[in-house]
Amino acid sequence: MRGLTFKRGIHPNYNKEATSSKIIETLMPKGEVVFPMSQHLGGSCTPIVKKGDRVLVGQKVGDSAAFVSAPIHSSVSGTVKAIEERRIFRGTKDLCVVIENDFTYEDAPYMSENAISSYTDLTKEQLIQIVKDAGLVGMGGAGFPTHVKLAVPPDKEINTIIINGAECEPYLTSDHRVMIEETDRVIEGMEILLRVFKKAEAVICVEDNKKDAYEMLTQGVKEKERLKTALVHTKYPQGSEKHLIYAVTGKEVPIGKLPIDIGCAVFNIDSVIAVWRAVTKGRPIMRRIVTVAGGGVDNPCNIKVRLGTSYRELLEYAKWDSARTVKIISGGPMMGTAISDIDVPVVKGTSAILCFTEKEMGRDQISNCIRCGKCVDVCPMQLVPNTLQASALNHKYEEFLSYDGMSCIECGCCSYICPAKRQLVQSIRTAKTAIRSRK
Ligand code: SF4
Ligand code: SF4
Repeated sequence: MRGLTFKRGIHPNYNKEATSSKIIETLMPKGEVVFPMSQHLGGSCTPIVKKGDRVLVGQKVGDSAAFVSAPIHSSVSGTVKAIEERRIFRGTKDLCVVIENDFTYEDAPYMSENAISSYTDLTKEQLIQIVKDAGLVGMGGAGFPTHVKLAVPPDKEINTIIINGAECEPYLTSDHRVMIEETDRVIEGMEILLRVFKKAEAVICVEDNKKDAYEMLTQGVKEKERLKTALVHTKYPQGSEKHLIYAVTGKEVPIGKLPIDIGCAVFNIDSVIAVWRAVTKGRPIMRRIVTVAGGGVDNPCNIKVRLGTSYRELLEYAKWDSARTVKIISGGPMMGTAISDIDVPVVKGTSAILCFTEKEMGRDQISNCIRCGKCVDVCPMQLVPNTLQASALNHKYEEFLSYDGMSCIECGCCSYICPAKRQLVQSIRTAKTAIRSRK
């Protein structure tokens, strides 16, 4: 196997020590659970229950007829308390199904009926349907519905499945823990994916700061056909789809194209476990493992929680100190979203909640660009971030497009490295959003 990294990128402080060796703990919700209807890319769901209905664990509460969408299931049993707009982590509001938990956790009967010990008799179409019904989406943050990725058009073929165990964002360790604690499930999940992509081989990629997980997975796939492991360099953003593909295959995804166009499909570690659980246990996606860390918590941890649980409950579990926290981020520090309200629910894409102190934030004054070129040196998409920012700030969107601004993956390397502390990725993101909305 050739090169195990990509060009450019950065080496931030990874700060994973506080949680990387901590066993995943389970936290059950104490209060109501809230299910936003937009937890994925594509069509939003519509509530299919009404106020006063009793719902069971695993029962669908939201669905959509759109192909690019994924249903939403209740993670508890109880009564529908409200269907109303509630705040979500992005700061916007979304239509939500709110359920009063009855704490009996009564399962919907279909889950045990659908549990199978052998999936080898299932056709590719049946496997894709199970994944679709289970509401699976990419758990790495983007939230792309998994069944769409599996349903490859007849004129395309996948020859390499890449399982993304890079977890390159600082502080995040939930994938690391899953690879160690649920190694067999990861491997069986990959075997299920190989039944969909019959001509492909699968490679699990792990960064070399997680050698314990790499060794366990390597041992686990030793006797398996079409399954491999790869130890990739620890560098940010190694977990970006395009950069992981390059590291493993040496192939570049052309601008405007998708991994499928060069025969690749990338799945996150937790998504692979979700596939395993849906196919072998009949269970839809109802839980998420979340890293809660940063200098503002006294008990940094990896917690397995039911979807819909309030961020506040996770922060209380992690012994959050509001007095010394100056910023809370949903997701990783590089690509996450700063939040102002902690009474928002955990959704399918919630990977972490990070509480940063003044010292961790290092608030520096923004100054003029000194044309040092550092942002250009680190950009993994080989863009010119300072020029893109100038176009963005002046609303020169044609110019922005001519510099390939839309291919920015919003990794934040440019903002991280800039000595003038210029908010490069923020300006670029705003311009991309404006251009998309004009279209
Ligand atoms: S311009 Fe975009 S892709 Fe390049 S470093 Fe900045 S955020 Fe990353
Ligand atoms: S890193 Fe900052 S100061 Fe240097 S060229 Fe880029 S925007 Fe300008």
